[in-house]
Formats: sequence, C-alpha cells, structure tokens
Amino acid sequence: MEKMKALVLKDVGKLVLEERPIPQVKDPDDVVLKIKAVGICGTDLKIVEGKHHYKLDTVLGHEFCGEVVDVGTHVHHIKIGDRVAVDNNIRCGFCDFCRMGLTSQCVDIKTSALGVMRDGGYAEYTIVPEKQCYVLPDEIDDVAGTQVETLATVVNGMNALKMLPYDYVHVIGFGPIGYLFAQFAKNIAAKVSVSEIDPFRLDLAHQCGLTAWNPHEVDLEEKVNEFTYGSKADIVIEATGNGFEEALKIVTPGGTILPFGMDSSITATIVPNQITRWATKIIGLYLGQNTMLPSVRIFRENTLDMSHFYTKVIPLEEGPSAYKDLGLDIDTLTRGPKSAMKIVMIP
Ligand SMILES: [Zn+2]
Ligand SMILES: [Zn+2]
Repeated sequence: MEKMKALVLKDVGKLVLEERPIPQVKDPDDVVLKIKAVGICGTDLKIVEGKHHYKLDTVLGHEFCGEVVDVGTHVHHIKIGDRVAVDNNIRCGFCDFCRMGLTSQCVDIKTSALGVMRDGGYAEYTIVPEKQCYVLPDEIDDVAGTQVETLATVVNGMNALKMLPYDYVHVIGFGPIGYLFAQFAKNIAAKVSVSEIDPFRLDLAHQCGLTAWNPHEVDLEEKVNEFTYGSKADIVIEATGNGFEEALKIVTPGGTILPFGMDSSITATIVPNQITRWATKIIGLYLGQNTMLPSVRIFRENTLDMSHFYTKVIPLEEGPSAYKDLGLDIDTLTRGPKSAMKIVMIP
C-alpha cells in the first residue's frame, strides 16, 4: 500500500511525523483529497497541550484545502480535479438542533470534527465527506483556501453583530480571529480599536494601521473612553476567551458583547444587575453556520486587508517546531511570546 507523510498526535506534547497508508474511499460519499495547504490553528496548540478534547493517533489539522483525487460512488457534486476548501465540522442533520437550524449545536459535532476527532489535514492526503467540500475559484490561492473555514466563523459573528457604519468597535485579542474581525470593522465601522498583550501581535496591529494598546501597560477602560469621546464601545468582540469582565467595562449602555474566544477553563465574576441596568446585549455563538460560501466570496473579491495575516509558509516537517512561533514550546509544553500570526504548511 502506498504511503504518505502525516503529523499525528501520539500523546499530549507529542506531534510526530509518521508514514501512513494513503487513505482510500470507504463510504460512498467519501472524497479523497491531496492536501494543497494546511493552517496551524490556536486550537491545534491547545489540543497538543491537552487543554482541548482530543483523540490519540489522529492526524491533526482542520484548516485545509486540497485537490480531489478520488470519489465514492454517491459523490455527484464534487469532481476529481476540483480544488476545494473544507468545513471540518460535520453536522449530523438529524438531531433536534440540526433540524431546528442550530447546526453548530449539533450533538455529533464534538465527536466528528475533522482534524480533532477524525484524521485531518496535517498530511499529504485525507478523506472528507462530500458535503463538507466547497469548490475554490482560481482567485483564491491554496494558502488563502486554508482560511475559508476560519473566516466562516468570523462571518457568523459578523452576521450576529449587524455592525453599523457609526459604531465604535473594540476587539480584545489580535490573534487570527481578532485580526479578521478588526479588518471587517475597519471596512464597516466608524472607529475600531484593539487590545493585545503579545508584543509581536500588538506591533502587527499597528502595522495594519489600527489603534491598539497593551492592556497590561495602559488603563484600557480609560483608553477606550477617550477614543470614543466618552461613550465607550458599541460593540466589543472578545477574541481571547478570558476578557469577558474587561468587555463589560468597556461596552457602552445598550451595546453588544460577542464572547468569541474559547477557553473552557476560564470563569468570570459578573454583576447581573449591571447587564440589566445598562441593557447590555451578550451574543453567544459557535463556529460558522452557512457561512462557507460567504467566506469564499469575501476572499475572492479580496476585500479584507490580509497583508499581515500570513507570517510564513513551511513544509509539513517543520510544523511541530513552528508551534514555538505561535507561543507553544512542544518539548516543554510551556507558553512564551509569539513571533507569528498565521503559519501555513505545505505537505
Ligand atoms: Zn481553527
Ligand atoms: Zn445534528
């Protein structure tokens, strides 16, 4: 049987390059992809750290695009030779949540995600169900093709926020998700500011022409207040997972908080009466939902400034050591400063 290279989660802290058999069509709706490119996501770092649910012996990588090289007997819409982006979150379509339109709350999603609980894109080949595939137009290159799903989650957030041209927007955290939200806000809102504690990423926010502060060095509440002429932010996008209390301090009365960053180990202390008194809107949502095609449109028209998004493109073999640039030393499982925004691997 022909072999391929793959980066496999062997244990917490052990992401190992292995030779594996090239996957073959088993189910009639299977599509075999030759991976063109795969992004490293913050979630991948949490998986390797053991801080996110995981399954040992799984090929990681959920941000990928590839070329179709084989299809099952029931595949009718996707053809051999198509270049496709992938929605890695497989929704069952049968649970009550799916059938009520809450597909991101699907009961199967936790156990079926590609690159988390099923083999993903840190490999030369992988298998995906046909319905997860979205054909990429030529205007979107392989590197951008890896980020269609990432952008789809942000578009879902944008749909819920209904951002207006006179809004003051603040984004907490300037990782890839905060970056994308800030670029949307730059295109749409009256004013946007960012807070970020990592020096590299804070500098990148400045390079993008954004007003950005390190909240460890300034009084964020005071800065946002000044920036918004005393009215505070109409929209606060919390893209770290641990800034909810901060968000409550900088949102204007009647304003909206989108808690988007995920960290299930974080708790927050709130005074519910303040939410009532100041009519704060808090929007919970998760993943993308019917937002893959909108993301393809956005990347196709190139309407977001992505010029500082991709830090480097590297071969698959260099993946584990590149985690250090994203702030995780795999050998010691310690966190440190970052020197990258998004890193993409070419298998
Ligand atoms: Zn991701
Ligand atoms: Zn479902």
